[in-house]
Amino acid sequence: MKQSLIGMNLDELREAVTACGGKPFQAGQLAQWLYAKRELNFDAMTNLSKELRAKLAENYSLLTSSVIAREDSGEGTTKLGIRLHDGLVVEAVLMREDERTTACISTQAGCAMGCRFCASGQLGLKRHLTAGEILEEFYHLYEVMKPDWLTNVVVMGMGEPLHNFDNLLKALTILNADWAFNFGARRVTVSTVGLPKRIRELAEQGFQFNLAISLHGVDDESRSALIPTNAGLAEILDAAKYYFEKTRREVTFEYTLVGGKNDDIATAEKLAALVKDFPRANVNLIPMNPVEGSGLDAPSTEAVNAFTEVLQKAGVNVHVRRRRGRRVQAACGQLRLKLESASVGTTDEHG
Ligand code: SF4
Repeated sequence: MKQSLIGMNLDELREAVTACGGKPFQAGQLAQWLYAKRELNFDAMTNLSKELRAKLAENYSLLTSSVIAREDSGEGTTKLGIRLHDGLVVEAVLMREDERTTACISTQAGCAMGCRFCASGQLGLKRHLTAGEILEEFYHLYEVMKPDWLTNVVVMGMGEPLHNFDNLLKALTILNADWAFNFGARRVTVSTVGLPKRIRELAEQGFQFNLAISLHGVDDESRSALIPTNAGLAEILDAAKYYFEKTRREVTFEYTLVGGKNDDIATAEKLAALVKDFPRANVNLIPMNPVEGSGLDAPSTEAVNAFTEVLQKAGVNVHVRRRRGRRVQAACGQLRLKLESASVGTTDEHG
């Protein structure tokens, strides 16, 4: 299989260009076409010589993945099933609301974290996505929205992003770099189940990404029941504070409300106590999208409202995430489960 140019940093593009007989500075031009303009046709890269374009096309590929399924919710959400070169399927979601166009991208095929409320977690980790495969999701989503472009990116799809740290960092560096996509770090949110060591490492990279941490429990016992790989609330909150101190970016705590499990008033009070002194903390409440076979239910509207009220009264900044795209199975991993069980992931459009 030819190596893809997508996912290469500037040094790697320089090597590719010079190996094809071009001048080092032309790596910058290639990066502009590839990343800033999202151009996937070598022939359109007109400031590169015909010879260089032919050599690049001969030796390198661009997209290695293809879209095999698309579901539109009719409420601004489009979910793509993307088949990787080895047949594994991941998801990318586009959410359009008012002025915002947000991409939700995946970083792994499957996930090792095993969260009980999540379809990806039920399957285990198949493999990490490369930086290029992570970036390819943007090209597939661009096809859905063009000529518009994204206003926000959330790394909240399939997989635990910080478990695939090096590839994630490379992809986000290219997304952010002014020689590439030039997409502002403050418009990118990395969502993690809470890997304290990696949160600290991310804090030290000098980027201003937003951080979202999936809490889902107010003590280690209840949290571990939903997230078997729970690293410990105290350590996670410590790492989150460190992240804020280093980056001055807000930290958001995600809390999935599961009917009859963690949606009662006493739990809301405990959650408020846990986060209320946290510097610039927000809580996102996510009413559970039931996953077949998980044995977990959606909370009632009354429970969601009562839970929200307790947090608000305690002075916590709280949002309830609307059940966008419920009809397109928007909880992470669900489309892929459907695709794999129906074995549709077998066509290969991009070789
Ligand atoms: S919720 Fe996220 S971290 Fe947990 S299993 Fe699913 S994809 Fe992995």
